[in-house]
This record gives sequence, structure tokens and C-alpha cells, in this order.
Amino acid sequence: MSLDEIKISQAIIEAYKDKLIKALDVDVAIVGAGPAGMCCGYYLAKAGRRVVIFERKLSVGGGMWGGGMMFNEIVVEEKAKKILDEFGIKTRPHKNGYYLADAIEAVSTICSKTVKAGAKIFNLLSAEDVMVRKKHVCGLVLNWTSVEMANLHVDPITISAKVVVDATGHAAEIVRIVERKAKIRLKTKTGKIMGEGSMWAEAAEEIVVRNSKELCPGLYVCGMAANAVFGGPRMGPIFGGMLLSGKKLAEDLAR
Ligand SMILES: Cc1cc2nc3c(=O)[nH]c(=O)nc-3n(C[C@H](O)[C@H](O)[C@H](O)COP(=O)(O)OP(=O)(O)OC[C@H]3O[C@@H](n4cnc5c(N)ncnc54)[C@H](O)[C@@H]3O)c2cc1C
Repeated sequence: MSLDEIKISQAIIEAYKDKLIKALDVDVAIVGAGPAGMCCGYYLAKAGRRVVIFERKLSVGGGMWGGGMMFNEIVVEEKAKKILDEFGIKTRPHKNGYYLADAIEAVSTICSKTVKAGAKIFNLLSAEDVMVRKKHVCGLVLNWTSVEMANLHVDPITISAKVVVDATGHAAEIVRIVERKAKIRLKTKTGKIMGEGSMWAEAAEEIVVRNSKELCPGLYVCGMAANAVFGGPRMGPIFGGMLLSGKKLAEDLAR
């Protein structure tokens, strides 16, 4: 077989076009391919939902690659170890009921299993706005990250989703857009974004799971974004809460 550059280009363009067209109308659109977003996508795809995940960066994994302060080991508690076991990620017991895993193995395996479960991940695409109808979030407005970075004057495209999940981490970018532009009252105590609290690992790991829920019709939140929105504390470099939060939201949405 002779290699033909044009046929290679054609294969890439056709395959991407097909994938993008299928993403135009999905059950769940997740913004952010960090540990929480990918875990949520994995369980939803396993439950048969049509799931897409949009990630601004070239690489997926969010803040998980760097463990704590760039020491690329992650710590999880017993409950979350079960999720790592399900993914087939090797864990080593440490003292006091903690378990360690290699951050690189964790991110790459979670990503691989999420894609194999059927979720489509689009990297290099940023969600810059939402689509709202009758106070119901029903889609995302997307553009290439490179357009955003170069501040180019290029219009985005829109996709529709029954459910949008904000898994953008501390920034809670999608919820901020909804609060600012759609003027929908959020299901927080104040009706607005409450802001993340200071470090308290023990409480935060439980609270982040509880906070992974609906914020307004069509919009849900998980991972660090959940505590940022509902006013929960941060938890430092322990990643169990992120995984458990993604799983909990997926299970709620799959019911
Ligand atoms: C300042 C700072 C403080 C931190 N403090 C803590 C802490 O207290 N506790 C803790 O556990 N971890 C902390 N971390 C580490 C890390 O962010 C989290 O632990 C963990 O990775 C969060 O998981 P997540 O899945 O919620 O979000 P992340 O891992 O942050 O993943 C979010 C992903 O969403 C993507 N994204 C964001 N906006 C968009 C958009 N508009 N469109 C498309 N993609 C988007 C990002 O590129 C990223 O890949 C901190 C990180 C930072 C930078």
C-alpha cells in the first residue's frame, strides 16, 4: 500500500466531522476532562447515555497529573479506592487507611476507560457560553481554544444537551456564565455562587460528593466546581472526593 498524504488528511477530516456531528445533540455534555468530569462521563457512558466531554487543554486530566505540589502521587481514601480498583489502577496501602496511586497511571487509565466506555472526549475545545431556553440550560457554545487564546474574532458553534455538567474545577466557569448572563437563581443558599471555603480535607471530601447535584434546570456540577459553587471547603491533594463526586452525579443522572 502506498501512503498518500491527501488520503490521510481526508480520513482525519471525515472521522472528526462524523464525531462532531454526533456531538451536536447528546444526553449529557460535560465541560472539563479533569478527574471528576471523566469519572462522571465514564459511569454515564456505562449506563448507556450519549456523553461528550469538552476539554480546553491539549491534555485531559486537569489537576490530577501533578498530585500535590507536583509530586505525582495521588492519595485516596478507602471508599474511593474501590473506584480505582474498578478502573484497574494499582493502589498501595499507606498508613491510617490511605492509599496511594501513581498520578500518571491514574489519569491515563481513567481517560482510556472513559473513552472505551463510549464517552467522546473533545480536547482543544472551550465552552464559552451556554444555550438557555425558558430558564433551562439546554446546550453549550463552543470554540477552539486556539481562537480563545489568540483572541480572534471568530464565531463559535452550538451543541444541544439534555443535561450540562460543569466539571471545570475551581473556576466553575459554566455556572459563572449562567449566573452572569442567564440570571437564573441557583439552588444554593444565596441563589448565587457562594465561593470555595478554606482547607478542611475531612469535611470537604464528604461535602463535595453531596454538592454534586443540580444547580438549576439542565445544569449540574461536580468536582471542585461543586464546592466552589455551594461554598464547601477545599480539600488539598486528596483526590478521592473528585472521583466519588463524578460517580455520584452520574448515578443520579442515570436514574
Ligand atoms: C489554585 C488551585 C488550588 C487547588 N486546590 C486544591 C484543593 O484544595 N483540593 C484539591 O483536591 N485539589 C486542589 N487543586 C488541584 C486540582 O484542581 C483538583 O484536585 C482536581 O484536579 C479537581 O478536579 P476536577 O475534576 O474538579 O477539576 P480539574 O482537575 O481542575 O479539571 C477541570 C478541567 O476543566 C477544564 N476546563 C475549565 N474550563 C473549561 C472550559 N470553559 N471549557 C473546556 N474545558 C474547561 C480545565 O482545562 C481542566 O482540565 C488545586 C488546583 C489549583 C490550580
